[in-house]
Amino acid sequence: MRVLITGGAGFLGSHLTDRFLADGHEVVGLDNFITGHPDNIAHLASNQKYEFVQHNISTYTYVKGKLDGVLHFASPASPIDYLELPIPTLKVGALGTHNALGLAKEKGARFFLASTSEVYGDPLVHPQPETYWGNVNPVGPRGVYDEAKRFAEALTMAYHRFHGLDTRIVRIFNTYGPRMRPRDGRVVSNFIVQALRNEPITIYGDGSQTRSFCYASDEVEGIYQLFMKGDSDPCNIGNPDEYTVRQLAEMVRELTKTTAPLVERPLPEDDPKIRKPDITRARAMLGWEAKVGIREGLQKTIDYFASLPAERMKPRG
Ligand code: UDP
Repeated sequence: MRVLITGGAGFLGSHLTDRFLADGHEVVGLDNFITGHPDNIAHLASNQKYEFVQHNISTYTYVKGKLDGVLHFASPASPIDYLELPIPTLKVGALGTHNALGLAKEKGARFFLASTSEVYGDPLVHPQPETYWGNVNPVGPRGVYDEAKRFAEALTMAYHRFHGLDTRIVRIFNTYGPRMRPRDGRVVSNFIVQALRNEPITIYGDGSQTRSFCYASDEVEGIYQLFMKGDSDPCNIGNPDEYTVRQLAEMVRELTKTTAPLVERPLPEDDPKIRKPDITRARAMLGWEAKVGIREGLQKTIDYFASLPAERMKPRG
């Protein structure tokens, strides 16, 4: 197969690229480096089966040659990023998805949308099955991401139903691992970078809110299997192991052996109180579930951040 991955220099996009290449497929990566980073694809520079195009998918996009898959992973994905980039976030979810769908239709390719557990908002059902419609504030600060992804799902289903396009929608739950940006703003990268630099570890609110953390290799395997074997209905891919944010901070402190203190900071507006995937559907359809435990995954992520040049660990400017 030859597939296009938008957001191909991003955290998940670059791991997914490696997964396709490992099975002998060809990959065209597309990224405008708003939140992606060239280091994530530097190892592919001399790979004959890899091409890279620097481009913004929210503008008109054409790729030469055959494509069997178009996987749309481009988007700011950390709350801090989409608060700083509200309009590009809305555009890549709406216009970017439209361009990627149009390209898939033109090429007769399978389309794959990277959606998110954020479509469930601050959930009133726990854990969250795909049948739950969610509790999203459309006009709150997170609405730019949540509603863009909800629109992207609706547009994908419209192309599936109206044009008969072969489509997939994955709802990605909190994922962490190597190639996250050190100052990306998300909880795992923040805590590890703070611990390694002996800076105070910033717990937002009282730290009783929960998340369920999936290691990148598990997430990418689920995504790959969904692309290959799934159907058009949305599918959660995540690790159902649920922790409070305070528990996560304590684990990071223990594994890094830091003496950095925990400090409380204000809870961001509309921050979901709980989140955990119901993965019954992924298990039944794909035979997939996460394998990497939190401590093992955190240790690998700590090792990655510890290996980065100090320059990349500096606070956001
Ligand atoms: N969080 C935190 N400290 C940080 C960054 C995040 O306590 O330095 C909290 C945040 O308020 C949320 C959880 O960790 O409750 C997960 O945040 P993240 O930004 O990773 O992703 P989200 O799941 O909110 O999209």
